[in-house]
Amino acid sequence: MAHPALEALLILQDRDVKRLNLEAQMKAVPADIARVEQKIAAEKSAIETARTELRELETKKKLLETEIGSAEAKLAKYKTQQSMVKKNDEYQALGHEIETTVAQIGEFEGQELEIMYAIDEAKKKFAAAEAELKANIAGHEGRIRTLREREASLTAELTEAQGQVAVERAKVEPLKLRIYDRIAARNMPVVVALHGGKCGGCHLKVSSEVESAARGKGIDLSASLPTCDQCGRVVYWTA
Ligand SMILES: [Zn+2]
Repeated sequence: MAHPALEALLILQDRDVKRLNLEAQMKAVPADIARVEQKIAAEKSAIETARTELRELETKKKLLETEIGSAEAKLAKYKTQQSMVKKNDEYQALGHEIETTVAQIGEFEGQELEIMYAIDEAKKKFAAAEAELKANIAGHEGRIRTLREREASLTAELTEAQGQVAVERAKVEPLKLRIYDRIAARNMPVVVALHGGKCGGCHLKVSSEVESAARGKGIDLSASLPTCDQCGRVVYWTA
């Protein structure tokens, strides 16, 4: 059991540790929510990417269809012309144009076929991305709701914990409170037990003077606080 003079500090420390725990838990909530929101955004972005890809392919297909259409018109025109020419060289020249145009149409149709396959793939990708979001969105939204509820209950708990800290602080003498706050800013816990002459905070051996002081020898514990030579924490003796 700690010296009665340290009891108030130990209780304050206990309340402070609870408060700090709650603060740490609260701090983690926004990052957790952000992670879930990122997942939703990534799934939506996958849908958008697939949608854009699909649109681009469909535009390409339309352009090719236009190209094929005008090449076919050209071909029909050449054929008509060819049927009307009398000279052999003109006939042959048109024959060459016809061959070139037919080859061009064949090439365009090959490209169109490739695009049609790509459109099929893009449609599958789009449907898969949409299905994934649909399957996950309820879970994502539920998780965010739970996290927000957790944040709300932590806020309430923290308010209560802060109230308890204030109550216990009022019971500690101002000078000791100042020492406590100074140590608490760097090293929690502030008040630690000595175990086998070792500080419960930094686990290093304290000097014999500090150990005697912690035992309450040659020191008025209600007036001054024995502190670890190494880390500066307040130490107390436990039998
Ligand atoms: Zn120490």
